[in-house]
Amino acid sequence: VKALVLEDFHRMVVAERPRPEPAAGEVLLRIVATGICGSDIHGYTGENGRRVPGQIMGHESVARIEQLGPGTEGSGLVVGQPATFNPLIVPADDTRYAGREQHNPARKVIGVAPEIVAAFAQFIVAPAVNVHALPESLPISYGALIEPLAVALHAVRRARVRPEDRVLVLGGGPIGQSVVLAAQKEGAAAIVVSEPDAERRALCERLGAYAIDPAEGPVADRAVELLGGPADVALDAVGVSATLADALAATALGGTVCLVGMGAKRVDLDAFAISTAERNIVGSFTYSADDFADTVAWVSGSPEGIAELISEEVPLAEGPDAFARLSVGVPVPGKVLVHLDESDTGKA
Ligand SMILES: [Zn+2]
Repeated sequence: VKALVLEDFHRMVVAERPRPEPAAGEVLLRIVATGICGSDIHGYTGENGRRVPGQIMGHESVARIEQLGPGTEGSGLVVGQPATFNPLIVPADDTRYAGREQHNPARKVIGVAPEIVAAFAQFIVAPAVNVHALPESLPISYGALIEPLAVALHAVRRARVRPEDRVLVLGGGPIGQSVVLAAQKEGAAAIVVSEPDAERRALCERLGAYAIDPAEGPVADRAVELLGGPADVALDAVGVSATLADALAATALGGTVCLVGMGAKRVDLDAFAISTAERNIVGSFTYSADDFADTVAWVSGSPEGIAELISEEVPLAEGPDAFARLSVGVPVPGKVLVHLDESDTGKA
C-alpha cells in the first residue's frame, strides 16, 4: 500500500509500505482522504520537533471500514461504512482521565507518535473505540474536517461561548474558520474575525462572520463597533503577543479570552487588562472523547458553511507538492485534503 513518508525534513515521498493487520480490539481502515494540518507542516519543516524523519503523519481523516479485528464484533461498526477516528488513544482500562482524555500522560496520538503509521497511508489500524461511523449521506470529504472541528468545539466550550454572545476570533485560517462554525453552533449572536489575508477574510464572510484586516487600524475598536459592544469571548487562533493584546482589548470586563493558537512559545501580556478587568484567560488543546463524539454528531448533519472549509483536494501523487507549497507559505485560504484512495473521490 502507498503512503506519504516524511523521508527527511522538507522531503516527502510516496512510498510502498506493508498493509497492516488489525490486532485484537482494532479496526483496519481504508483511508479516503486526510487533511494537512498546520502541525503537519511544522513537522515537515522540523520546526515543532513533534515529527521525525521516516514518519507517516496524518490525523484529520475520513476512511471506510475495511476489516474488523478480533473482539470488535460488538462495536457496532460494519465493514464498508464511512468512518473517522479520534486520533487520541488512551489505555482502554484507564478511567482516571475520563472526560479529559487529552490530559492522560499515557496518551498516544495517531499522526504525532512516530511509531504509529498514520493517515497519510492508504490503510491504518485504529482501536475500535476510537472509530466513529458516519452516515452514507454525508459528502465523504467532510469527515476529514471532524478532527479540526473538534479542536474548535473544545475551544468554544473552554471559553464558554453562550447563546447571544458577541465573539471575536483572532486569525481566519483553518483553526479560526472552524472556531467560527463552532461558535455559531453554540448560538453566538455576532462573530468578528481579524485576519490579514484577503482570501481568508472572504472565506470567513461566507461563513457568516464579519472580517476585518488588522493592518487597517485598531482591531478592538472595529470589533466592538461591528459586534455592537465589547466581545463576551475572544478566541485567539494565532497565539502571539499582538493577537492576544487585541483579544484582551476587545473583551468586556469579566469576559474570557481563550488561547487556542500556538504561534509563539512566549507572549507579552497586559497584566492590568486581566487583573483589574477580571478577565479570564483559558487554554485549549485538542479535545476530550466527548467533544470528538459530539463533533461527529454535529458534522453528520452537514452544518451550513462546512464546504467552505475545504479549499483544495489533491490526489496522493500530488501530496509531496502540496506539503512543499504550504511549507513555503503559498496561501491557501482553507484546508488542503489529500485523497489517498483514488477510487473514492471528492465532494458529492
Ligand atoms: Zn491538526
